Amino acid sequence: MEALVKVEKALEEDLCDHCLGRLFAQLGHGITNRERGKSLRIAYAMLNTHGEERKKVPKEAETCDLCGDLFDELDKFAELASEKMDGFEFQDFLVGSRIDPEIEEREERLWTDLNLNTAEPIKSEINREVGKRVQKKTEKEVDLGYPDIKAIIDTRFDSVDIELSPLFVYGRYKKFDRGVPQTRWVCRRCRGKGCERCHGTGKLYQTSVEEIIGGPLLETVSGEDFKLHGMGREDIDAKMLGNGRPFVMEVKDPVKRDLDLKELEKEINESEKVEVLSMELTEKEKIQDIKQTRPDKTYRVTVGLEKTKRAKFKKVLDELRGSELSQRTPLRVSHRRSDRVRKRRVKELDLVSLDDDEAVLEMRCEAGTYVKEFIHGDDGRTQPNLSEELGVSCKVEKLDVIKVHYP
Ligand SMILES: [Zn+2]
Ligand SMILES: [Zn+2]
Repeated sequence: MEALVKVEKALEEDLCDHCLGRLFAQLGHGITNRERGKSLRIAYAMLNTHGEERKKVPKEAETCDLCGDLFDELDKFAELASEKMDGFEFQDFLVGSRIDPEIEEREERLWTDLNLNTAEPIKSEINREVGKRVQKKTEKEVDLGYPDIKAIIDTRFDSVDIELSPLFVYGRYKKFDRGVPQTRWVCRRCRGKGCERCHGTGKLYQTSVEEIIGGPLLETVSGEDFKLHGMGREDIDAKMLGNGRPFVMEVKDPVKRDLDLKELEKEINESEKVEVLSMELTEKEKIQDIKQTRPDKTYRVTVGLEKTKRAKFKKVLDELRGSELSQRTPLRVSHRRSDRVRKRRVKELDLVSLDDDEAVLEMRCEAGTYVKEFIHGDDGRTQPNLSEELGVSCKVEKLDVIKVHYP
């Protein structure tokens, strides 16, 4: 009964059916607020008869005191939004809005006055109703989670702002060039502005895996910028071979989304420095997966050393295989990493070839293992290490990642 009293009080206000219905939006679902408002007027007239005389169904207000007949403009808003979204490629969208703050204040006051806890804010009804109309016009789906595109309507000025969600492409890359870093490396001296040291490029390296993949992608989708999220990284001078390293490329503000990824792969692979494979569109969540997964890696290491007997070499490898390394932060990265000891396991360790002054090893180890330091020992900062066990100094000549153990 209490609800009926509230309806009676609400009916004393000059409201349109949308605004009346929206006050009771939490009661009964499967109908629009407008239908709810209409029904409430009818139900009220029917249920509130006393004696013989039938009550006339109260009419919708000529002009709504709450919204100022904003809902008459739904078709126009939908038209404006659709027009503005035209020219962008998207599968799903979301309509948002900025409403006159005075309307929102009036609405909240009414909720308090009528002591209501069943209402819905006007903004969500506008968004939903315009969304339905845009859906019909564009034949695209509304997505409340991660829409490709958002149209934000300012209902005061009949203007629409477009927000584009980034595009995410998953793939794996191989790197064949020992002079290419994974990501753009800004010149520290000029901070990217361009100076003598960087020959005016603002970068320490001419190109990067990020740019080789991101450049063609950016151009294809007419985006603004790109960022590579890699599953770990290899040293600049290490090749990345085998099944490639998983990555997600994020492209900001893409105008296009319908991509021929096979064609794009071909274009990127023409660089010959980098090869991409298995590219597919993905979702933002994949970045977390990429960043949190710490897979084992298998390396092929070419080690320069004095002549060593095969039998002794094999024996040392047998001892080191499966051991846990204690690696104090290497000298070469000590300027940017805190000094501490990391424990990492060497899971597999095999001799591929041994010549007079060179050995080739393959080793599988946990993510984050300092492989070079395991080989040369880093002045004893890595224990145990190959050099000390063999009793000869060892130098890493080449280091390649030949497998990332993922998935
Ligand atoms: Zn209204
Ligand atoms: Zn510079």
